[in-house]
Amino acid sequence: MSKAKKTVKVITIDIEKCNGCRACEVICSSYHAEPKYSSNNPARSRIRVIRDPLKNIFLPVYAGEYTPAECMGRNKYIIDGREYSECDFCRASCPSRDAFKEPDSGLPLKCDMCEDDPTLEEPLCVQWCLADALVYEEREEEAEEEPKQEDMEIGLRALADKYGLKELVSAVARMAQKE
Ligand code: SF4
Ligand code: SF4
Repeated sequence: MSKAKKTVKVITIDIEKCNGCRACEVICSSYHAEPKYSSNNPARSRIRVIRDPLKNIFLPVYAGEYTPAECMGRNKYIIDGREYSECDFCRASCPSRDAFKEPDSGLPLKCDMCEDDPTLEEPLCVQWCLADALVYEEREEEAEEEPKQEDMEIGLRALADKYGLKELVSAVARMAQKE
């Protein structure tokens, strides 16, 4: 596989600075509402804050790739006296939990770094985090060029997992008849 330079966009998270205000969830879900900014619902946010104020746990995690299978990760981690489960840090939309799934359709949600035209100076969750717990960074990295899995294919796979391939094909056929 050939190698190419690509810009990698990351958000570095400082859990010591996060105060659990959830402004990041509000702006992310609002920005991705249809139409834009028409509503906000943290369940639709591509960043979720794992919160347990009594234990001083505030952990923002932004959504990564969809996975159709549960993993075996059941480990616990103690960091600065606070206990986290392995799932807390995971960015995947997976069958084990509701996080990073569009609540109505069940389709996986993935952070798109607030792609827009013109490009935003920084993603909105970073701009709205007044505690500076989220820091945006772009860096050049050499990476193997892989064929991209299109968003549509990922969405279809998630629907097939949820409703079964047969039901999905029937639904598409019914839609085609109405066109
Ligand atoms: S906006 Fe910042 S401080 Fe507030 S919950 Fe999100 S990451 Fe934490
Ligand atoms: S970068 Fe944008 S899409 Fe990603 S979690 Fe933050 S607000 Fe949501």
